[in-house]
Formats: sequence, structure tokens, C-alpha cells
Amino acid sequence: MADRSQQIEAIETQVRDLESSPLYAYRQENGFQPVIGEGDLHARVMFVGEAPGKQEAKTGRPFVGAAGKTLDKLLKSIGVARGDVYITNIVKDRPPDNRDPHKEEIELYAPFLRRQIEIIQPKVLATLGRFAMDFILDEFDLPEQGKRIGALHGEVLSAQAAYGEIAIVPLYHPAAALYNDQLQDVMEEDFRVLKPFFKG
Ligand code: URA
Repeated sequence: MADRSQQIEAIETQVRDLESSPLYAYRQENGFQPVIGEGDLHARVMFVGEAPGKQEAKTGRPFVGAAGKTLDKLLKSIGVARGDVYITNIVKDRPPDNRDPHKEEIELYAPFLRRQIEIIQPKVLATLGRFAMDFILDEFDLPEQGKRIGALHGEVLSAQAAYGEIAIVPLYHPAAALYNDQLQDVMEEDFRVLKPFFKG
């Protein structure tokens, strides 16, 4: 069995060659990169966002634009470095003009996220925004499916992964906090629930 970095590299190659994606031509035309994910391949906490923005597609790295700065700040507020977690998205290519990802795009890229979860085996899946939350709640068939992020943010939900019990923590998307100081305070409080998972 290949080691974790080889397995992630295999995903990267497959996404790079994913000509069947409706986002493939847009990526090629703009010289963008697919964004697979980055961080500790043995991380306890995996963050799942929605889809890469422009900065991410230019660099091939998740959450490096304005929303990424907010994410870094939130991690710092609980004493966690970016390199201690794994950060990825559901959709691995940038949708044009930052539009929401389409259902078919989410379905097309979902198997890659599923494999990342199986490879890294995080204890916590922290979802960023409603698309990631909806996807992960469905994926693990939680009774909270269909509930709104306003009702679930900062909750610690338990779920059964193939490799054992995990926690799912829905969080607001850091982009939502960019121009909303109040939401930033709420997010800081929500992030505190993650802290115990980094200990021991
Ligand atoms: N927003 C996301 O959902 N993901 C990124 O990687 C960047 C911005």
C-alpha cells in the first residue's frame, strides 16, 4: 500500500486530468491549478471548504486569499498552526466568478474528498460554510441533515466513519466574517470547541 503522500499525489494526478469536469476548460484557459488540499497528512482535524477562489486557483493552495487570512487568524486564536491541520475543499477547481458550485460539480469531485478522508482518517471534520456542511451531514447520514448552519454552527456532532467514530463540527465560512465583526466573534467562539481535539 502506497504511503499517504503517494495516495494524495494519485488524487492530484486524477483531478489534474479530469477532462470530464465542467470546470476543466475554465481552468486550462486561465492557467489555473486544481486545489487538492494541504497540511498534515496525519492531522486530527480536517477542514472542508467549498471550492477554490481566484488566489487558490492561481497558486494551487486552499484558503490563501482573504478568507484564508481569516481562517489563519481563527486557527491562531486557538493556538493552532496551519501545518497542524489538513485543509481541503469539496470541489477542487474554481467555479467561474466565484459562483456557488453546482450539484453535478459537487457529485463529480466528491469521490476525491471521500478518499482524502479515508487516507487521512481525521478525528474531526470541521466544515466551512453551508455547502461543506450539507455535503458532510448527508455523507454521514446524520439526523441533522437539512438543518441550517445558523442552528448547527459550533456544535460537535458524532458520526461513524469507516475507520471509527468521528466528530463533525459545522462552522461558518470564514469569508462570511470578512466584513462582519460580530460574526468573527461568533466564529472565534465556535473554533474553541476544536481545541480539545488537538490535545493528548
Ligand atoms: N473558499 C473556499 O471555500 N475554499 C478555498 O479554498 C478558498 C475560499
